[in-house]
Amino acid sequence: MNDKNSREYDIIIIGSGPAGYTAGIYASRAGYNTLIISGVLQGGQLMNTTNVENYPGFSSGILGPDLMLNMLQQCKNMGTEVINEEVSNVDLKHTPLTVHINNVKYSAKSIIICTGATPKKLGLPSEDFFSAKGVSYCATCDGAFFKNLELAVIGGGDSAMEEAIFLTKFASRVHVIHRRNEFRASKIMQKRAMLNTKIEFHLNQNIVEIIGDNKVRKILLKNTQTHENQFLDVEGVFIAIGHEPNTQLFKNQIDLDANGYIILKNKTETNIRGVFAAGDVHDHTYRQAITAAGFGCMAAIDVDKFLTKL
Ligand code: NAP
Repeated sequence: MNDKNSREYDIIIIGSGPAGYTAGIYASRAGYNTLIISGVLQGGQLMNTTNVENYPGFSSGILGPDLMLNMLQQCKNMGTEVINEEVSNVDLKHTPLTVHINNVKYSAKSIIICTGATPKKLGLPSEDFFSAKGVSYCATCDGAFFKNLELAVIGGGDSAMEEAIFLTKFASRVHVIHRRNEFRASKIMQKRAMLNTKIEFHLNQNIVEIIGDNKVRKILLKNTQTHENQFLDVEGVFIAIGHEPNTQLFKNQIDLDANGYIILKNKTETNIRGVFAAGDVHDHTYRQAITAAGFGCMAAIDVDKFLTKL
């Protein structure tokens, strides 16, 4: 029954990145009454990128926001309802499963969680200013834009090592900036990075400023031991200090791992009957638009099987 304060669907998808939209396309096309609750910032992480060159089907690349608007339109064409709101809370412990947005209750037989993850930020004002003008959180996405340039990678974990090694395919030099004198990264990843002659390490250094005009030109580092400042000329800054899965809403209701990622017990199923997850909210390994879209497709197919059995 649908009224002003209560609405019913077969499937509710929370989140609107490639996983959420792909799940929406598949679920609606399979004939289910499907709602996507997109969040206020519709479209996910790709809304903050420029040209996406590695999403198949676009031989000259496509702007991240255009790709997401196309996916949104494709969902709507299939009949998916999309509302541009933030979920206030969820109840996954009772059936039907319910999602609340302010005073309105949305219930469904199945929910697909596609809330993604957010790259951790340094918190510098210049970081936001230079976002997509030299500051990036994804080497696979943006590395190819920095051919023959000097770059900095911030962080000392496996991501920082992996990003630095990947960026040496394009960059003339990659400076890894780490705030301590030992790395958090696994020994094997450290070794691989250290054997790469294009990578230079700067230990005990905090990045305190990103400087440039219409793009990044240099960074200011402060030595954590001597407190001395030093400028480093770079044209790109890749921040690799970890990701935060967007799972606050589901704490104490769904099994999460120590880092807050959703644990899947079987393909795309969570530990709660009828609740599925897709994309970066559970996948901390691949984290690509195309893999998130693939997981969204898988989740919608798994939900179809679940609902058919019901
Ligand atoms: P992580 O292991 O949490 O490392 C984050 C790094 O960023 C740490 O070195 C940390 O410094 C630094 N950092 C955090 N906040 C900072 C700040 N505000 N300013 C400067 N530096 C800051 O994160 P991750 O590297 O993304 O890895 C996450 C998980 O994914 C790990 O379990 C990792 O093993 C896994 N992973 C595996 C692979 C692989 O096996 N190929 C690749 C990527 C990620 P401190 O060390 O001083 O805390």
